[in-house]
Amino acid sequence: MVAEQGDRVRVATDNVTYEGTLMPSTTINIVVKLDNGYNVGVDRSACIELLEKKAPAPRSEKSEEDTGAVEEEGLPTVAILSTGGTIASKVDYRTGAVTSQFTAEDILNAIPELRKIANYRTKVVYSILSENMRAEYWITLARAIAEEIEKGADGIIVTHGTDTLGYTASALSFMIKTPVPIVLVGSQRSADRPSSDNAMNAICAASVAVSDIAEVSVVMHGTTSDDYCLIHRGTRVRKMHTSRRDAFRSINAQPIGRIDYPSCKIETFTGYARRGERKLALHDRMEPKCTILRYTPGMSPELLRFCSLSGYKGIVIDGTGLGHVAADWIPLIEFATAEGIPVVVTSQCLNGRICDRVYDTGRDMLRAGAIEGEDMLSEVALVKLMWALGQGWSYEEVCAKMKEGLAGEISGSSGCRHEYCAFDNL
Ligand code: GLU
Repeated sequence: MVAEQGDRVRVATDNVTYEGTLMPSTTINIVVKLDNGYNVGVDRSACIELLEKKAPAPRSEKSEEDTGAVEEEGLPTVAILSTGGTIASKVDYRTGAVTSQFTAEDILNAIPELRKIANYRTKVVYSILSENMRAEYWITLARAIAEEIEKGADGIIVTHGTDTLGYTASALSFMIKTPVPIVLVGSQRSADRPSSDNAMNAICAASVAVSDIAEVSVVMHGTTSDDYCLIHRGTRVRKMHTSRRDAFRSINAQPIGRIDYPSCKIETFTGYARRGERKLALHDRMEPKCTILRYTPGMSPELLRFCSLSGYKGIVIDGTGLGHVAADWIPLIEFATAEGIPVVVTSQCLNGRICDRVYDTGRDMLRAGAIEGEDMLSEVALVKLMWALGQGWSYEEVCAKMKEGLAGEISGSSGCRHEYCAFDNL
């Protein structure tokens, strides 16, 4: 029998022998995925021996609601809403790439420990890689979550690609006031890799979903080992590494807590909204036409003019240091704000707070109407701006709200705390 993609094979040359899964091959090489997850290319002249035909895909046809499992009495109910990403992925033997293929229900079937924590309802909201997420999809997702909460879910898990998981967490944080935990989870390595983080992340996420932490949070590996996950606040978290399992970090804030594995014991580091403390409220409108301009030395301010003239409704400038751009940008900031387009300044430093009152440049930017983005991540400022502009508020109200902490995105009271900034007389 001829070996096909996905079959288990032994490939031998004069010098080496490899065993693994046959991948799509090139004109020069036969490609084999080894059991350790790595791919090797072997010259086409190698001899291929078929060891085992590939198993049929374990994909479930049931997409919604019923997980098919017997419900365990006394356990809370968690709704798992899947959107795609690596946590729902495996290698596609057609392309050799990792693609989103599992539904939430498949994830549930693959990780039996989850059923000891809760009973589940599952729903496929999207099956996409998260680089394809967009503001309209956040709205659909927020509505799906609110519907599950209204139907009595005790907690929500959203499975999501890691690339833009922080954006979605932030969008949901502004859109939903929640009485129950809403936990976003992903994985950096797909389920077919020995080093996959999907099972531990999912188990920790489920434990947080049944906990008292009624916040939008992100639960992902805290270290490269399988020892604990961190519980990050949805408006404070960023993916800080392309591939490490502990890529997610809270920026400018402590994580809400950690959850040990496998005990699933939760330790909290900050205050948090408790289960039942808030009533469900959904504010799901967004203005998608907003952008971030990342200032670099010598960058033309014309880009700012372009955005102002081509229908952008809000602009975040990711500036340098305390929140600066070159002097030749200032007239164009003034131009944008005079057009009623809020311009919010964040910092490429990531850590620390914006203070545009220390240097001349900053003071000129403020006079031109720029809004200090406090200690928000630039992407959180962007999502918040989209959300604020969607609420039908006046320009002044939007500007005021951008400096006010609404969902844990700004720490402490708003206002510059730089040592040279004891005065406020612009
Ligand atoms: N780029 C894909 C995504 O964000 C895969 C990355 C991942 O999930 O880790 O969905």
